[in-house]
Amino acid sequence: MTQPYGFATLQIHAGSRPDPATGARQTPIYQTTAFVFRDADHAAALFNLQEVGYIYSRLTNPTVSVLQERIATLEGGAGAVCCSSGHAAQIMALFPLMGPGRNIVASTRLYGGTLTQFSQTIRRFGWSAKFVDFDDLAALESAIDDDTRAIFCEAIANPGGYITDLPAVGALADRMGLPLIVDNTTATPWLCRPIEHGATLVVHSTTKYLTGNGTVTGGAIVDSGHFNWSASGKFPSLSAPEPAYHGLKFHETFGPLAFTFHGIAVGLRDLGMTMNPQAAHYTLLGIETLSLRMERHVANAERIARWLEADPRIESVTYAGLPSSPWHHRVAQVCPRGAGALFTFAVRGGYEACVRLVNNLNLFSHVANLGDTRSLIIHPASTTHRQLSPEAQRAAGAAPNVVRVSIGIEDAGDLIADLDQALASATA
Ligand SMILES: *Cc1c(COP(=O)(O)O)cnc(C)c1O
Repeated sequence: MTQPYGFATLQIHAGSRPDPATGARQTPIYQTTAFVFRDADHAAALFNLQEVGYIYSRLTNPTVSVLQERIATLEGGAGAVCCSSGHAAQIMALFPLMGPGRNIVASTRLYGGTLTQFSQTIRRFGWSAKFVDFDDLAALESAIDDDTRAIFCEAIANPGGYITDLPAVGALADRMGLPLIVDNTTATPWLCRPIEHGATLVVHSTTKYLTGNGTVTGGAIVDSGHFNWSASGKFPSLSAPEPAYHGLKFHETFGPLAFTFHGIAVGLRDLGMTMNPQAAHYTLLGIETLSLRMERHVANAERIARWLEADPRIESVTYAGLPSSPWHHRVAQVCPRGAGALFTFAVRGGYEACVRLVNNLNLFSHVANLGDTRSLIIHPASTTHRQLSPEAQRAAGAAPNVVRVSIGIEDAGDLIADLDQALASATA
């Protein structure tokens, strides 16, 4: 038996092979809208989902397909669908599960944009979200009702340095017969593999670490292939006959690939939140070095968090990689290679000091992004979390005296020197 390839090999090779037409070793950018059918029978078979192939790039594209296979492999899933952004991935993940009157139970600790998407925008579809503290498993269980169709959380939550107890939440989801959706954007599969802890679906903003260089937006939904969509009758989009495909039943026909096929054949076909081949190309280039970058991101974050924690100008640091964190004990089980590179710290001097700190940094860029090779900083209370009430800001770990950093892969000493001089002006 041949030995299975390791992560560093798969992040370069999974899904890609030399181009059959030219031998090109790097995955070509198939910059084409449509693909010629061999003949009328071939076209019919493709449209009936009897044969897998390429029709039109809103549905499938060879460059995007390589990325889908690579992300699915790195997450240990059965299949993946890429789409135009992380937020698109979240809608695409919920779309086959939900309907008017249905709800999801979501963690209070989420990316600010996700809190807005779930608390406001999805209501237009007749969907709703109930937010609970996922450390309170009893509250999580009692929030679930007959209309609940999914449980949603982030592995390492943005922005607060919080780690979800994925094994406990996964076991609860399993007992309740509900799919668990885990946003693994801030951890990446190098640090955390949610499917091994019971996740049904893993969603990504590939905009962040997977691409890693701040060039393109994108998203992905990985299906574990483990969920029985037909067991409860709650997921008719996947278990019942689909009128648009002559009564085809996705789960019965495609088994562990049901969610992935539905995501392409119905989700991308009708919602059209497609990733373009250029974006897939940049993300494929980024993924080749994912493990190397993440190791450096984590090493830098650990060093800078320790330095900040020891500094009298800082009130507190919320990094799960620090022994002082209430979630430090989860690192070994949930993300054994480190707690990521995203954390917040509270500055003495409150809102005003945070604004001055952000204004005085030279190397850190003040942007609404994370997971770039460059170090980034943002003041959530005045930006990403400004739509939320002060109460909700605090619950999300984004109080007015808090800044969030996404530590890059520069020299840690240079980053510390930059923080040191900016803190001096901010707290003078
Ligand atoms: C950025 C981000 C999103 C949204 O992704 P986009 O690509 O910006 O749409 C969702 N979840 C997390 C954790 C994120 O960091």
